[in-house]
Amino acid sequence: MSETMSTMASRDERLILVVDDDLAMRLLMRESLEQADLRVIEAENGEQAIERFEKERPDLILMDVQMPVLDGFSACARIRASAAGEQVTIVMVTGLEDVASIQRAYDVGATDFITKPVNWPILNHRVRYLLRAADAIHSLRESEHKLSQAQVVARLVHWEWDLDKDIWCWSPSFASVFGGLREEPEAGIEGFLSLLPGSERARVGNALKSAAAQCASCSIDHAIRHPDGEIHNVHTQAEVIVDPAGKATRMHGIMQDISERKKAEERIYFLAFYDALTGLPNRQLFMEHAQRALRQADADGKRVALLYLDLDQFKRINDTWGHSAGDELLRHVSRRLQESLQDPDKVSQIANAEGYSLSRLGGDEFTLLLSGLEDTQVVAQVADRVLEHLSTEPVRVSGQDIYIRASIGIAVYPDDGKGVETLLKNADTAMYQAKRSGRDTFRCYTNQMNAQFAKRLSMETRLKQAIERDELVLHYQPKLDLSENCRLIGFEALVRWEQPGMGLVPPDEFIPVAEDSGLIIPVGEWVLDTACRQIRDWRAHGLSPGHVGVNLSFQQFKQQGLLRQVLNALGRYLLEPSMLELELTESTVMHDVDTNTVLLRNLKEAGISLSIDDFGTGYSSLSYLKQLPLDALKIDRSFVKDITTDSNDAAIIRAIIALGKTLDLKIVAEGVETHEQLEYLRQHGCDYAQGYLFSRPLPAVDAEKLIDVTFFSRRAGKLSTA
Ligand code: C2E
Ligand code: MG
Ligand code: MG
Repeated sequence: MSETMSTMASRDERLILVVDDDLAMRLLMRESLEQADLRVIEAENGEQAIERFEKERPDLILMDVQMPVLDGFSACARIRASAAGEQVTIVMVTGLEDVASIQRAYDVGATDFITKPVNWPILNHRVRYLLRAADAIHSLRESEHKLSQAQVVARLVHWEWDLDKDIWCWSPSFASVFGGLREEPEAGIEGFLSLLPGSERARVGNALKSAAAQCASCSIDHAIRHPDGEIHNVHTQAEVIVDPAGKATRMHGIMQDISERKKAEERIYFLAFYDALTGLPNRQLFMEHAQRALRQADADGKRVALLYLDLDQFKRINDTWGHSAGDELLRHVSRRLQESLQDPDKVSQIANAEGYSLSRLGGDEFTLLLSGLEDTQVVAQVADRVLEHLSTEPVRVSGQDIYIRASIGIAVYPDDGKGVETLLKNADTAMYQAKRSGRDTFRCYTNQMNAQFAKRLSMETRLKQAIERDELVLHYQPKLDLSENCRLIGFEALVRWEQPGMGLVPPDEFIPVAEDSGLIIPVGEWVLDTACRQIRDWRAHGLSPGHVGVNLSFQQFKQQGLLRQVLNALGRYLLEPSMLELELTESTVMHDVDTNTVLLRNLKEAGISLSIDDFGTGYSSLSYLKQLPLDALKIDRSFVKDITTDSNDAAIIRAIIALGKTLDLKIVAEGVETHEQLEYLRQHGCDYAQGYLFSRPLPAVDAEKLIDVTFFSRRAGKLSTA
């Protein structure tokens, strides 16, 4: 007995059931077995044996054959048939050493037999041996079970191919991993290959056969068809087994379902290189495409054009209607761009490019790369077509029809940059120029743009010092009441920058720089304070300037504590809030209307007047307009300009005036330059006007001369008779 067996026996004593109707026999057996540290229980007949088995679950049963009540064969058969008795070791103890009884013993499920008379000295060795064999079988079954479970978890099957007989066997995990059917072993390798899609059979078959022929291992990825028709990706790894003579006899291997891993790999690749929202290549992949295109261009002396596209007003749409609307819009844009590339008489043909690649760099920025160009003249045409196709028809986003407009900057390799980064930077600069020149257009990069960019940077630096150095000044432009013979009702404060040696810089040049750099906050605070101080000074001199309008930028409007800042400025100079009017653009107000409405109400309740500046140029929603606590709408001067010549503009102005009447808002016309314009506005019931016809914006000392009730009425009268 081995060392391990003896420790095992004493640890959990093995239990033996001795079944015999002969008491002497039972005693002898007990004696013999107990000497070998085995525990013994007894039964006198088959019926009792079944009972004791059920109750005590012995490890082994020594079963006499001939017994009253129930004989040994029947008892053995019944124990075997029970669930618990399937694996117990049953040894028949038979006096009938004839072949028929032995056959019968095996037929009823006996594990083994011993014959009477019992050879007592070897009985316990025999029993020990049988227990050990049962243990071995048990642990083999267990490990087989574990293996097949592990195979199912690993989505792996094992197979074996007998090369001589061409028999192909699968491990039991096949059914769980690949569902149902597996070919019969006799079908051999052809049976296996028949599970593969037709296109794969030759390749996989050849790989296995040639590995077998060369006694080599083989590893191959291929597809397999599930019984339900679904195709799965698998990895097959095979080894050849050779006999002592060196002849290949069998091949065996594993086949693992790697569909999930493949899918995950594809997904990871997609996430790393594609934009999840639009499915277009992302910045990473764009860089790779671009680098490849530049190398290719070097090799064949051709050019590459980079079109950098940025949506117009995207932020506003995003802010107004929410991010999901923004996402929806981006998907539309991506679709439109792809269409414009696929449509045969569009981009691809015009450009005669060898290749193009469209990417989304992030946000609302897209790039189109045209590679292998002979002639770059066509690039402008491409940009034109792309813009045209983007805006052909409106797209529906959050229930609204929106026209997609964008600005494109173009840079060409190698002319405008020697590497992708520079090319991107320059295309971006060109795009920025396109935006500045009115949007919905494109610009090609020029060296000059870089100079402008540098100028912008230096402007930012100088603007930072402008406030401390007292270089900012306010000019005031009068506002007049048209119904009361052009009576002065107030001024608009407009900021100017007096740069030493450079003259007056108009706000259109530096306000955008201030807005981009955040300097607009201190600039705006300075303007507010200065305007309030001016009102105080005028009043101190007995003058009534009416109310003074101050322009507020988007950033100023959304900064924390605006209300407090305004009230502080008024308080500092002891002014009533009604002396101040704040001018906000449509887009400033329409952005996040709900929050803004609260802020506007607070300002309004504090007594400050509110007007919408440049009305008609942005996105306005009537329903919002109605709920905002406003005092006036200022018609943008671009509408006033052609009022007497362009019937469209005239119609817009009439509509705005009518709107003002309905919503009980005053209408102010900006940029009135001619008497005809004035007449038209007056006739159609416009309330107030502002413009060069009456006065340019003036320094405070000059503006105060206009604070005289009769000044403009005299002038207007003169003008109307002139
Ligand atoms: P805005 O608020 O619409 O101001 C009216 C602009 O039209 C002023 O230009 C004014 O000089 C000009 N204008 C007035 N009458 C006429 C006219 O008859 N014909 C023509 N062609 N133009 C006329 P300005 O002063 O150059 O200001 C441009 C814009 O700069 C302003 O447009 C406003 O948006 C911004 N701005 C000016 N001052 C400030 C400020 O203190 N803060 C902020 N945030 N923005 C300001
Ligand atoms: Mg204004
Ligand atoms: Mg304006």
